Amino acid sequence: MKVSKFGGSSVSNASQIKKVLNIVNSDPERQIIIVSAPGKRYDNDVKTTDLLIRLYEKVINNLDYIDKKREIIQRYDDIIKELHMSKDLLSIIDNTLEQYIATLKEQPERLLDALLSCGEDFNAQLIAQYNNSQGIPTKYLSPKEAGIIVTDIPQQAQILNSSYDKISTLKDYKEKLIIPGFFGVSEKDYIVTFPRGGSDITGAIISSGVKAKLYENFTDVSGIYKANPNIIKNPELIDEITYREMRELSYAGFSVFHDEALQPLYKDRIPVVIKNTNRPQDKGTYIVHDRQVNSKNIISGISCDKDFTVINIKKYLMNRQVGFTRKILGVLEDNNISFDHMPSGIDSISIVMRSKQIKNKERKVLNEIRKQCDVDELSIENDLAILMIVGEGMNQVVGTANKITHALAESGINLKMINQGASEISMMFGISVDDAEKAVLSTYEFCYHGIELKNLCDPA
Ligand code: ASP
Repeated sequence: MKVSKFGGSSVSNASQIKKVLNIVNSDPERQIIIVSAPGKRYDNDVKTTDLLIRLYEKVINNLDYIDKKREIIQRYDDIIKELHMSKDLLSIIDNTLEQYIATLKEQPERLLDALLSCGEDFNAQLIAQYNNSQGIPTKYLSPKEAGIIVTDIPQQAQILNSSYDKISTLKDYKEKLIIPGFFGVSEKDYIVTFPRGGSDITGAIISSGVKAKLYENFTDVSGIYKANPNIIKNPELIDEITYREMRELSYAGFSVFHDEALQPLYKDRIPVVIKNTNRPQDKGTYIVHDRQVNSKNIISGISCDKDFTVINIKKYLMNRQVGFTRKILGVLEDNNISFDHMPSGIDSISIVMRSKQIKNKERKVLNEIRKQCDVDELSIENDLAILMIVGEGMNQVVGTANKITHALAESGINLKMINQGASEISMMFGISVDDAEKAVLSTYEFCYHGIELKNLCDPA
């Protein structure tokens, strides 16, 4: 059995939905389908999920919300009209929105999750109804009926391990199942959503529960690019990538697949393929447990993410002071700050974190470090970008770091810090945010094609 998930752009209008159902109905193994809310139909369009957030904002600010509600209903009305379906679903949509508003207005966090869930929930009902009307036995199943029971933290749901028994029974249904992505219900029976983009997580949970042989993740690109296509003109696609590589790349800005979706898959080694709804014949990118390394795929992908902050600490004879680092990390813990990297020397240490972690707390944190740690020098730097070079092949081949640093030096990029973990699966370079694009371009061209930036005729 395959579990197939279709993202927002794949289910954004009637013609996309028809494409989706052609894909689904062409393969009897595609038995469980997870759908997102209708996404953007064109560049400046607004996702249904964002329309729902706008509705929520009107409601909690006691403003007239009727126009916002109409806009949402209109999205489904457009689809229903084009598919020549009955309009009955529209009154269900209207009633559900009104019911959530009436019952949860005094509990804003709960109301937000309930409204957010509507985008996928209405779409799943619509798609199941339409496929049934085409003569294919299909059943809409709510996350509650599917057994997706989650923790009770609004917008940060996590699946409870006890859910998997019930989810495993989904493979016994004879009909095709359409399940809305992005949310579950808590033990207290509240609707709780996963983080944004969380339909991928639903697909992963269901795949793990039914022990699917493949989790197909359909989107609007034919796989995962080796680098950001907004920086590199027509980058190559990755054929195969491991879960660990994918995690590193999504951490550093690759957004095709939600990084939290990897966890349920990892345990049972369920392979994922990222495929294109508009070009289902394309092979796609496989995310797997192990892959064969050859001379062409030593590096899987290159990514650069911005908005990092670094705290630099210098202390003469730091290496001889027992407990020095623990005190610094204690300050971060007291301020509820998580950090990502900690490159160090014998007399210095740098702590790198997402800027939003320390925002508005900078002065307090520095003061506490100064007070508790007796440092010689202390500074903080914003505007740091992190270049990540990711590849399982790097621990088997000598010379990758040399290529990367050559490409960066040749482009005049100053390396503020370098970090490589023991797994040798990724190399991290801290650079100035102004160099971010140039760093991706130069490392991509030199590592994949042996071309130095100065010799590249047409930089993207
Ligand atoms: N509709 C949700 C979002 O826009 C979840 C998803 O599409 O995966 O974030």
